Amino acid sequence: MKKDTLIVNAGRAPEETHGVVNPPVYRASTVTFPTVEALEGAERDPFEGVYYGRFGTPTTFAFEEAVAALEGGGRAATFSSGLAAIAGTLFAFLGAGDHLLMTDSVYAPTRRFCNTVLARFGVEVTYYDPLAGSDVAGLMKENTKVVFLESPGSLTFEVQDVPAIAEAAHARGALVLLDNTWASPLYFKPFAHGVDVSIQAGTKYIAGHSDLVLGTITTRDEALYRAIKDQTAVMGDVAGPDECYLALRGLRTLGVRLRQQERSALRIARWLQERPQVKRVLYPALPEDPGHALWKRDFLGASGLFAIVLHATEEAAVARMVDGLRLFAIGSSWGGYESLVSTADVGALRSAVPWTEPGYLLRLHIGLEDPDELIADLEAGLERLAG
Ligand SMILES: *Cc1c(COP(=O)(O)O)cnc(C)c1O
Repeated sequence: MKKDTLIVNAGRAPEETHGVVNPPVYRASTVTFPTVEALEGAERDPFEGVYYGRFGTPTTFAFEEAVAALEGGGRAATFSSGLAAIAGTLFAFLGAGDHLLMTDSVYAPTRRFCNTVLARFGVEVTYYDPLAGSDVAGLMKENTKVVFLESPGSLTFEVQDVPAIAEAAHARGALVLLDNTWASPLYFKPFAHGVDVSIQAGTKYIAGHSDLVLGTITTRDEALYRAIKDQTAVMGDVAGPDECYLALRGLRTLGVRLRQQERSALRIARWLQERPQVKRVLYPALPEDPGHALWKRDFLGASGLFAIVLHATEEAAVARMVDGLRLFAIGSSWGGYESLVSTADVGALRSAVPWTEPGYLLRLHIGLEDPDELIADLEAGLERLAG
């Protein structure tokens, strides 16, 4: 099936639910079995079929089937949040004495997990330049088990050479994990570029409505899926069936939402490039962006999240601009239908490659509003910078 047809059909089996279009919400802790033999059979393989609420319900499985189909992978699993998916996957493949290579422009809570929990459990973490490409080979050690990527990077949007990094990692027997949230399953196909496990904060574009928190992993093959599920089963993480239902419902419009958000984001980003108050626009879909060539080579589109660096260095001026925006709400997260703006202290979040821009960085998420009205809102905001 082509992409748009797959988005509509993946994970649906109306013939199993009285013809109802969407898979219903199955809420369950207990699952009953007709015989002891049937129960013991389910216990032997809790990842096949319905066994107990903590292992998911048919609603969970329908959502996972759809995510795996769109990512182009073997099998998907769901977690209670994007961060839980990241933490659970790292836990599945790392132990005391192992080494992890982590991209320097990773989502800040992932960095915090590495520097606190993984460090406490004896995992050594090296942050690497997101633009290292095949040079990560020089950072690989005997005990490097995992190379973690996020492309484009959080806040600063560096595009990584995923195939080159994957090749260097695989040459030394390490696994390649990718936080694929920015592109969503539609705009970057992880398994065509050497990734072993693709991770999504389903909270963002998949759910698409800013009303739930959920994470997914999709693996290249069944063995990796089993390794992660064995870990999850021990840790007890589970996504609720209502979240899975809503995320699956949100997923059905992912294609049209992203098409409009990309179009508006590109238009607004181009407009911002021309503003005297804006020093840089960090958005790989722009031809002037340093990551554009790699983005063009590997991605199928751009989502609606990017950043600008202002010339302004004064907090009061930036507050005047941002606080007065009418259509851009101030808030973290992104991927919903509404526009957002947030500030970030990037300097505090980089250790391999120092961030040297003195101006304020604003991250913009472009929603489904009329782009002319978003531009007018930003134009009035930029004028307020001068006081
Ligand atoms: C939001 C986000 C996450 C975490 O997702 P949650 O569901 O909020 O835990 C992970 N990675 C990236 C890139 C994100 O933006």
